[in-house]
Amino acid sequence: MEMERQPHVLLFPFPAQGHIKPMLTLAQLLCHAGIHVTFLNTELNHHLLTQRQALSARFPTLHFHSISDGLPSDHPRTIAVYYQDIVASLRSKTAPLLCQFLISKKNNVDKDSAAAAAAAQLPPLGCVITDGIMCFAIDAAEEVGIPVIVLPITSACSFWCYSCIPNLIQEAQLPFEDEDMDRIVSGVPGMEGLLRRRDLPSICRMPTDHPIMQFYIKETKAITRASALILNTFDDLESSILSHLAPRFSKIYTIGPLHALLKSRIKDDDLSSSSSSAAATASLRQEDRRCMTWLDTQRLGSVIFISFGSLVKLTRVELLEFWHGLVSSGTPFLWVLRSDVLWSDEGEHMGQVIPTELEMGTKERGFIVDWVPQEEVLAHEAVGGFLTHSGWNSTLEGIWAGVSMLCWPKLADQQVNSRCVGRFAKLARNSVSESGSSYHNLQQLIQDLRNL
Ligand code: UDP
Repeated sequence: MEMERQPHVLLFPFPAQGHIKPMLTLAQLLCHAGIHVTFLNTELNHHLLTQRQALSARFPTLHFHSISDGLPSDHPRTIAVYYQDIVASLRSKTAPLLCQFLISKKNNVDKDSAAAAAAAQLPPLGCVITDGIMCFAIDAAEEVGIPVIVLPITSACSFWCYSCIPNLIQEAQLPFEDEDMDRIVSGVPGMEGLLRRRDLPSICRMPTDHPIMQFYIKETKAITRASALILNTFDDLESSILSHLAPRFSKIYTIGPLHALLKSRIKDDDLSSSSSSAAATASLRQEDRRCMTWLDTQRLGSVIFISFGSLVKLTRVELLEFWHGLVSSGTPFLWVLRSDVLWSDEGEHMGQVIPTELEMGTKERGFIVDWVPQEEVLAHEAVGGFLTHSGWNSTLEGIWAGVSMLCWPKLADQQVNSRCVGRFAKLARNSVSESGSSYHNLQQLIQDLRNL
């Protein structure tokens, strides 16, 4: 590998689990091709990401850095206050720090002498890859004169829906009252007849002048200034919508499912080098691996796996309804119940709310954990079904594993995702194979980064 000829790219995700994981997967794929990657996390997430050392050891061209999110250290940083606080703070406090950081990386200067020595080994920063809701990072990269590529952490379908919101407002499809949610929506080309009001991104239920709605409109528009778009999807899955997005961007790299592409690249590498190292996933929470031993004791395809991702919260009524349903189904179940899953005003620990009549059924057939290695769980032969909130990462992981998915979309892009994907396991496998579209598009991205 000719290290000195490789480009240097900065990857900067939005500070949330579902955003950091695919961005870090892309980082590993780029490093696997020898590209130098500086991976920038907010300070808290930098510390929570315990796999940093293992990843740096596995990929010598992967360098982790942190930046302040500008919030006080005792801020709860939960979804309920996310947009108001984090987004505002990133824009006002983190943006100027990011500019300084980019300048230092572009010019290869660092105040700290150890960091300076490390920086000297690195080529000047040549490209920024950032998230779809971080347009302040696009502004910063433009100010410093570095090309920027955007990776929105969502499906092409939902990204397209967000892009069409101004159109929906113009056509008086938005706003609407919380009634007649099954009415078909027009104004999203390519999805005529398919999209109902209930399938639109959850922000579409807000007044059109709501700050969150305005935030998304602005962010989605800003992305069109990027030199290119990377999407964690694959051509066969969303080709009709990709054709609508194509005219808006000079280049779109569809290189998903990223987690599957990484697995296949690392596996190929391991086979040829006889090394035992494997791809690491990025988790900000501690995984409870006891669930794997429990799964080993269950019959083939008998278990329903329930996970609502890292952000979704339940009301007590929703929680109990799921619980009753699961126990009454008589099916073994593995349930990810994060300690923060109840809305904060109902924040008792789960154990305190198990109704007596559900205790026996839960102990006999259920296994409840705070956080699991989800990709491994989905790949386990005992798992036959996946009750999911339809977060895009979980959706791709479910498609890849080929398990039946029961969708309970709750917020953000989840409604669109659940409406638009069917059973595509075989297509996903084709896309990451050596003759597949995602494999080919990743090669193209790597080549283009080298030519920058
Ligand atoms: N995840 C995990 N363990 C769990 C629950 C979730 O590793 O117990 C991972 C899951 O594999 C997925 C990510 O967390 O990659 C959640 O991202 P997604 O886009 O599905 O949902 P979000 O958390 O953004 O709502």
